[in-house]
Amino acid sequence: MKIVEWMAQAVVQTQGLYPYIPGKPVEKLLREKGLSHAVKLASNENAYGPSPKAMVAMQQAVSEVHRYPDGDCTALKTALAERHDAETSQILIGNGSNEVLELVIRCFAGAGDEVLYSQRGFIVYALATQAAGATQVPVPDTSDLGHDLDAMAAAVNDKTKVICIANPNNPTGTLLSNEKLQIFLDALPRHMVVILDEAYDEFVADIKADSLQTLKHPGLVVSRTFSKAYGLAGCRVGYAVADAALLDVVNRFREPFNVNNFAQVAALAALDDSDWVMDKVKLVKVQRARLEIAFSNLGVLGGKSYANFVLLKHTRAAELLNHLEEQGVIPRPLAGYGLPDYLRISVGTEEENDVLLRVLEAALAQVKS
Ligand SMILES: *Cc1c(COP(=O)(O)O)cnc(C)c1O
Repeated sequence: MKIVEWMAQAVVQTQGLYPYIPGKPVEKLLREKGLSHAVKLASNENAYGPSPKAMVAMQQAVSEVHRYPDGDCTALKTALAERHDAETSQILIGNGSNEVLELVIRCFAGAGDEVLYSQRGFIVYALATQAAGATQVPVPDTSDLGHDLDAMAAAVNDKTKVICIANPNNPTGTLLSNEKLQIFLDALPRHMVVILDEAYDEFVADIKADSLQTLKHPGLVVSRTFSKAYGLAGCRVGYAVADAALLDVVNRFREPFNVNNFAQVAALAALDDSDWVMDKVKLVKVQRARLEIAFSNLGVLGGKSYANFVLLKHTRAAELLNHLEEQGVIPRPLAGYGLPDYLRISVGTEEENDVLLRVLEAALAQVKS
């Protein structure tokens, strides 16, 4: 086959594969708008930064960077296994939990198989399904933007291989109880792979029992990340806890050195600094409450959120977005999720939220609904 034909074929295969659209990079916005300072509230990072212990660990690892990392992530895996009362064989570590989600989907679903997720579930499920050549089955949400577990159970058939549920969900911030999830799991074929994506678990740890100790299902894969509460998004490290035999299969799909050494040492140190992490989680929740009250007073609150972001709802959200970006505040538009009236805004530091509220009030005065 000539290279041009091969390329043409590759293009056809990727048709409809739409790229993940990240929040606008700060440098790009500053250049475009001629601004000197921006407040990035688009990617749900921890605005307070990483644990100081994680920073020290990375600095200490600098001189070893000519060596390959530990391909098995032994130290981190051991610490995580201990934390979750599991065996190391029940832990899979990835280049962000994003890689974990992709590996599991690619491993269990291919051409002719179906992957189920809520229509307003995390966009990566749709992308990973498409990349795996499997069929996407987005299930409509309940009217309050929550996962409709009854509708999802009804959509399961012989072709369904993987189900993905984010809890709390991104981008809608909704939360399902363990009780509801267990009823859903009990109605499934026992070995159906169910990815329970708990990227924001630290933000609900005080109001909900740990699903790893509570939920029972042989095909359950619980994923967590160091990118959100732990403040290590730039390191790219996340993990899943699941049945050892299931993960043994998934492990064959991963690259031998998928998690770099800085990520491993930083995650290990951050894990050991839970007081710091939970302290920042508390600060974020205080600020979230502040933003929700302010949004509510301004008549733009889009719903209650259990994660580290808030939802703004306005019929002219796109115009508001422009006004906010003009002033150096970067939220995330949700038109791509079929929610054109919504913006998702990460909870920043107190000072960043001062700027956000000031700029938002001015923007609302200009954009009359
Ligand atoms: C941010 C996020 C992730 C991915 O995080 P990683 O940085 O890849 O670990 C996964 N799921 C949800 C729902 C998220 O919001």
